[in-house]
Amino acid sequence: TATRATTPAPAADPAPGGNAAGAVLAEAARRRTFAVISHPDAGKSTLTEALALHARVIGQAGAVHGKAGRRGTVSDWMDMEKARGISITSAALQFQYRDAVVNLLDTPGHADFSEDTYRVLTAVDAAVMLIDAAKGLEAQTMKLFAVCRHRGIPVITVVNKWDRPGKDALELMDEVAERTGLTPTPLTWPVGISGDFRGVLDRRDGTYRRFTRTAGGATIAPEETLTPEAAEAREGIDWTRAQEEVELLAASGADHDQETFLAGYSTPVLFASAVSNFGVAALLDTLVDLAPAPADRPDADGGSRALADPFSAFVFKVQSGMDAAHRDRLAYVRICSGVFERGMVVTNSSTGRPFATKYAQHVFGRERESIDTAWPGDVVGLVNAAALGVGDTLFTGSPVSYPPLSTFAPEHFAVARAMDTGRHKQFRRGIDQLESEGVVQVLRSDRRGDQAPVLAVVGPMQFEVATHRMEHEFHSPVALEPLPYTVAVRTDATSAAAVAASRGTEVLARGNGELLALFRDKWDLRSLRQRSPELTLEPMVAAQLD
Ligand code: GDP
Repeated sequence: TATRATTPAPAADPAPGGNAAGAVLAEAARRRTFAVISHPDAGKSTLTEALALHARVIGQAGAVHGKAGRRGTVSDWMDMEKARGISITSAALQFQYRDAVVNLLDTPGHADFSEDTYRVLTAVDAAVMLIDAAKGLEAQTMKLFAVCRHRGIPVITVVNKWDRPGKDALELMDEVAERTGLTPTPLTWPVGISGDFRGVLDRRDGTYRRFTRTAGGATIAPEETLTPEAAEAREGIDWTRAQEEVELLAASGADHDQETFLAGYSTPVLFASAVSNFGVAALLDTLVDLAPAPADRPDADGGSRALADPFSAFVFKVQSGMDAAHRDRLAYVRICSGVFERGMVVTNSSTGRPFATKYAQHVFGRERESIDTAWPGDVVGLVNAAALGVGDTLFTGSPVSYPPLSTFAPEHFAVARAMDTGRHKQFRRGIDQLESEGVVQVLRSDRRGDQAPVLAVVGPMQFEVATHRMEHEFHSPVALEPLPYTVAVRTDATSAAAVAASRGTEVLARGNGELLALFRDKWDLRSLRQRSPELTLEPMVAAQLD
């Protein structure tokens, strides 16, 4: 059974009636909140288990997040997840490493994309980009990286599966540089080509971390540290080649630079074999030593909320229907300032209403555990959160609102119609609910009318979730009629008529009134732009995914 480290005692006890702000700052300073971005099969689950193993939260790899290890299901929701062999749930795994508290936010691992995956990245302070040594940068990694770049999130790169034949290390560095625009600054460098992983040269001190295989990778210490002399005696040409390549790197300016890393211009790189636990301790050390702690957070008014200000948090994910018996709704919040204490009453800035945090939990996959106190950087799952929507800000003390979460350009569109037209009320309620949870984006137009809204999603998986919930939760089965569009851009009222008149396009409104123009493909969009450059046709996020 997986167990989770209980939140360690505060580093500094608030003095009686005194230094509460000091305690918040000390707790925030030792937190590292990050997510792993990768393409399916790059080894994210394996790495997650290995991280937890190193942090000594669990005794044996495979207990936390193993796909094979999933236990019995509690609901139809979980059945669906199980049937597809995918993870729909996502939350945070918390563990202690050295003096730090690490929060690893789970990004759903399935092949289909969803907005949930993107939104998790609004709640982290850093990302680990996990690359399969044989495959290099794959599609989903690039999409997630685009969000990191847009948000200015520092990225640590881990080249995984070096124990298997794959690309050349220098080639991979070129690929990272060319496709992400980041300067790769390797902290370690492989000794032995991919498929013949001997170990890594640690560029920070020149030593050799020798890779020692352990059966099934289920123990913690697969490495041994050797001096350069001992390394040369042991590995011969492989060591000297690694040394030569490292000199090349130094000459080309590929040394770690903290400032450009934090600014999102360079990325420290590590070489690893997650399945053997090799390179995992180095990753944890890198997170603790280099990744940023939570900082004061910009608010919607152009100011910022200081870490030591009273409690504030924002909802980055809402999940319903996890438990068929209770139909509970869980809101995941990322704490931005102050201290969270279970039972505290907070205000929801989008409604002005109070919300009592009677039930608060750590949630990771199937594991839930009550939580009493949490600090900036931590993630808390609030139960019975029917009144909370994605993007809502919660606070105590002086009011604050965080900027609305970006919506991401949907790529799939379908008209939804109630199969039983007598149940229009249920249909409406369900669609509204799915929209407020951010399960799907809902687009409307006068032409299509209220009974036939257009559902817009980033990944087709979101359609499945929506139809499943419309039938089982809202008792209004829907029929979806796919539309031939693949591209959505923002337009405005002035341009709308001309855009809509163009062949193969349509203009619809989002819930907040924003107008979106839909195109069959980017060539249609490009040709309209060329023909009518005066029309407003803007990307939905600055880091528009091409
Ligand atoms: P995810 O889809 O990104 O979560 O990938 P998984 O963690 O499920 O890994 C996909 C497959 O790659 C599994 O069969 C793993 O055992 C394997 N794998 C993961 N890391 C490594 C590694 O470092 N070396 C090798 N050889 N296989 C690995």
